[in-house]
Amino acid sequence: MTFPERAAEIDLDALRHNIRHLRDVAHPARVMAVVKADAYGHGAVPVARAAVEAGAAWLGVAHVSEGVALRKAGIEAPILAWLHTSGTDFTAGVEHGLDLGISGWELEHVVASARELERPAIVHLKIDTGLGRNGCPPDRWDALLARAVEYQEAGLIRVVGIFSHLAVADEPARPETDLQVQAFREAVAAAESAGIDVEVRHLANTPATFSRPDCHFDLVRVGLGIYGLSPFSDQGSADLGLQPVMTFSTVVSNCKEVPAGQGVSYGYAYRTHKPTTLGLIPVGYGDGVPRIATGAPVLVGNRIHPVVGRIAMDQLVIDFGTTGLVDTPDSPLGKRAVLFGAADSPAVEDWAAAAQTINYEIVTRISDRVERVYLEAPREESADGYA
Ligand SMILES: *Cc1c(COP(=O)(O)O)cnc(C)c1O
Repeated sequence: MTFPERAAEIDLDALRHNIRHLRDVAHPARVMAVVKADAYGHGAVPVARAAVEAGAAWLGVAHVSEGVALRKAGIEAPILAWLHTSGTDFTAGVEHGLDLGISGWELEHVVASARELERPAIVHLKIDTGLGRNGCPPDRWDALLARAVEYQEAGLIRVVGIFSHLAVADEPARPETDLQVQAFREAVAAAESAGIDVEVRHLANTPATFSRPDCHFDLVRVGLGIYGLSPFSDQGSADLGLQPVMTFSTVVSNCKEVPAGQGVSYGYAYRTHKPTTLGLIPVGYGDGVPRIATGAPVLVGNRIHPVVGRIAMDQLVIDFGTTGLVDTPDSPLGKRAVLFGAADSPAVEDWAAAAQTINYEIVTRISDRVERVYLEAPREESADGYA
């Protein structure tokens, strides 16, 4: 059997399962599938299509350019983009019917685009309830609302949403989320008194969707969860009813027996302590594998072996811990090597721990050098032969 040289298999059926599960968890609130950063490395267009098919009501991206790319791929679902700079092409955003997150200064730019296109911009006003990044500071909220109402009355914008982002929802016991919820409620109330008819109030990310039903409001913005990963340190994917979507694999590209004392990879950070067999795994930091993840697990056959020595740009080494494999039917040469993924594979979280980071970063950084291979069960075709 041959395997792709390097592949990130993206199980779109698992993604659909996760979306449906999250819809149940969030019900009656609806789900925005967050597909920024190329859908956390999973591929924005196929993921966005599958998410909408499975019932995501909205798509979320950071950049207007990411939203425009989805529109150009034919995706018609509502798309919210929330992170802008003075170089953002707001006109393209309005022209493609994107919803635009507004924290303050962007409003004038969006209104200028709306005037130019003679088409109202759809906006969601963002309040900073404590994260300290984007969002309007509470003391400037009333002024922003007043301007928004004025532009809405002039037919230049339509305010459909009020939103904010949480800081510590992945640690459900922390009290600061309560303060953010309270501040959010006040901001929504102020918007309503200012005469804005708020269609969607949204605050929750993945952790709050699972742990804080009081944060669901009308819409939850879920990124990590749709990819089947857990945001909590004490719960895995299965505990949350999720299925990991990405499986990252390659092929053992060399296999050799070495004596005790063999130095492995740059710097000789590892030396074998007994005669053993080393396997060469042809992925490295050029493929998005973190260089510091020595010790992380790689599955070959049905056994897990640790990465030894330094991870290089193109390759890393695993130690099989035994001899007598080379040139036998048990030789690992040419066998599939799975770094992380679905079912019995090592977990993304094991790689995150080895790399002192979070699962979000591991999947998002898998580079373009790694082919994305989309998996889904065959669909029934309709009678005329078209699906
Ligand atoms: C990335 C992002 C999300 C999704 O966060 P997850 O923890 O991945 O669910 C939601 N809202 C905003 C504003 C974001 O930037």
